[in-house]
Amino acid sequence: MLFSDVVGQSDAKSGLVGMWNANTLPHAILILGAEGTGGLPLGIALAQYIFCENRSATDACGVCPSCSKVARLEHADLHLSFPSIRPDTKKKAMSRHYLPEFREFVKQTPYGTTFEWLQHIDAENKQGNITSEECREIIDVLNLKTYEGRSKVLLMWRPEYLGKEGNILLKLIEEPPNNTFLIFIAEQAEEILATIKSRTQTIRLAPIAVRDIAMALKLRAGADDVLATQVAHLAAGNYNEALKLLRSADNDLFPAVRNLFNSLFTNKGVELAKFVEEWSKQGREQQKNLLAYMMHLLGFAIRVRFMGDADIQLPEPEAKFVVKLSTTKVATEHLHAMVHDISETIYFIERNSHAKTQLHALMIRMHHAVTGTPVPMNA
Ligand SMILES: [Zn+2]
Repeated sequence: MLFSDVVGQSDAKSGLVGMWNANTLPHAILILGAEGTGGLPLGIALAQYIFCENRSATDACGVCPSCSKVARLEHADLHLSFPSIRPDTKKKAMSRHYLPEFREFVKQTPYGTTFEWLQHIDAENKQGNITSEECREIIDVLNLKTYEGRSKVLLMWRPEYLGKEGNILLKLIEEPPNNTFLIFIAEQAEEILATIKSRTQTIRLAPIAVRDIAMALKLRAGADDVLATQVAHLAAGNYNEALKLLRSADNDLFPAVRNLFNSLFTNKGVELAKFVEEWSKQGREQQKNLLAYMMHLLGFAIRVRFMGDADIQLPEPEAKFVVKLSTTKVATEHLHAMVHDISETIYFIERNSHAKTQLHALMIRMHHAVTGTPVPMNA
């Protein structure tokens, strides 16, 4: 994993590389970023940069023996620790029992979630864990000589899964052996032991920028321009979510949204009924995507009304639509009410409510919002 393989996050990358090159990279680092922002890929890229035999000022070379070992997560001086479960009743939960599975998981889904990882190893309802046995083994291993090079790296994914046993690691974190780097990759600051948080230097990851996600979807997932931009807007900075959205969004959502609003504004009841009929037959994910996209465009329209259209990163047809919507006579509070109603509809559809009933009720509410008349009590 090269830094250039990590989607966006240019500030974090240049910060880490800069510290390495200035010889000031802390020996205990906490990479903290929400799900899907790329903590794990960034941690692996940093490890690869540390081990690379021919690094440039900005990235590892990607071809030296060390790089290819790190890329396969098989470098002997790279120690991996992540939540695991007991493989059977006789053994403790230890990462090393699951290394082949972890390598495969990261290769397939570098932006995958811990929940997906635990599903991958069939944890079913079992809680993942990073055990005290594992902590002791980490201390032993890191105190051994290096195998291949000068440095040793511990990459611990989700220190939130350490219980109080994590305190076993404190001395190691305070005084790591020479040339040893401890990289913790976390998502929820409040779940990390305070003793660990206070002994590490935090690198915060922001949600990934829309344009970075859109670019990655185009270059790596083969999405076309329009779909990549739509999905990037919906993903809220989460690349894992973006990839999932892309898989479920097999067509352009915009024509349906545009037609729907045209019918609402021109008061075409027949068209609205047709919309409900058609979309109640679609899969739940598609319904949710469409609604989320509608909500998103309405949100843009509200923003444009107050702040102008200077910074809407939307494809041309959507941008025009949003500007038009922002200049309609519909009161801002009614636009807000629509956003609220759509969000509630998504909530109910997610919970397996009858889609047709929900969409029908939503159309009535949206129609009243557009015409500015009060919604009847039973709608
Ligand atoms: Zn290299």
